[in-house]
Amino acid sequence: MEVVEDTEAPRTVELNDGSQMPLLGLGTWKSAHLPPTPLQGAVEAAIAAGYRHIDTAHSYKNEVEIGKALISKMKQGIIRREDMFIVSKLWCTFHAPEDITWCFNKTLRDLQLDYLDLYLVHFPVGLKKVGDELFPMKDGKMLTTDIDYVDVWRGMEALKASGKVKSIGVSNFSILQLERLLALCRVPPAVHQVELHPYLVQSDMISFCKSKNIALTAYSPFGSPARPPELFRGDTDPKKLLEDPVVAEIAKKHRRSPAQVLLRYHVQQGVSVIPKSDKPHHILENTKIFDFSLTDEDMEALRGLDRGWKACILEEVKSHPYYPFN
Ligand code: NAP
Repeated sequence: MEVVEDTEAPRTVELNDGSQMPLLGLGTWKSAHLPPTPLQGAVEAAIAAGYRHIDTAHSYKNEVEIGKALISKMKQGIIRREDMFIVSKLWCTFHAPEDITWCFNKTLRDLQLDYLDLYLVHFPVGLKKVGDELFPMKDGKMLTTDIDYVDVWRGMEALKASGKVKSIGVSNFSILQLERLLALCRVPPAVHQVELHPYLVQSDMISFCKSKNIALTAYSPFGSPARPPELFRGDTDPKKLLEDPVVAEIAKKHRRSPAQVLLRYHVQQGVSVIPKSDKPHHILENTKIFDFSLTDEDMEALRGLDRGWKACILEEVKSHPYYPFN
């Protein structure tokens, strides 16, 4: 089978507000959950490898380290602020109007930035504010609020109006929630960040977002094999997506790695993707996805692996009316 070179492939996607979002970004989740990792070094390695899109969140507790990496690379003259596309997310314990601004400003301070490129509502369900707890629990139950995600969106619109964030979007919403938001918003979400990979194809979500001009970002493109143990829910083989024989076969045919095939699968559909790695060789490997193409047959075979399997489900709030995955 001939390998098609695709050197002219676009590397950014235009958002509905005119901004350009790089198709490849660095994911940074987990440094707060596993023993300390050299995240600053990983972000610096990513910038050196050409990444211009970094994905973080208040709840990852890593924005200070990311800020240090950005400042260091700016001081070295490797990047200017305007070269970077920096994304963060509003955590669920900050859904009240005054807390939205507080959480956003804390992110800006920690990152040492004066604006963000994209700010997302991390999850549609609000959680109670109990001290600094990210996941407030009482008697084995997660403490939720009934704050409407449409009201949270009003706060996001106000942040955009302030000029401190260029684009606003959401994450982990259902199609019904997106429809309701679109009907009631003044500013439509520019981006929806969701879990997407061949085990969770979500064709309906992809078609819906495309029809509404909402760009998609695929999170956990490898099925999040290093997610925290409490998220494993009895899965015995967390690495199965990277080791799937169909993915391996396609990778072999193109003389690429399974990781590169899993990333190419998204960018070929115009979906941005944010693989996490703190290993420089993986960080570099994950950039080499713009110089080959998957055939229609490859794409069909990958879609054929769909089994509706999600790595990230925040199961503890599944009885909440705004839970998106029921
Ligand atoms: P992921 O990107 O699916 O997988 C990361 C794992 O893959 C790490 O263990 C990494 O190990 C490994 N890996 C990376 N490159 C590799 C390669 N070339 N070959 C083999 N293994 C490789 O997992 P994720 O962190 O869950 O998702 C990515 C990002 O999406 C997150 O970091 C976060 O920024 C975002 N996210 C958002 C949400 C949300 O609710 N919006 C939820 C989950 C994730 P090494 O580090 O050792 O390379």
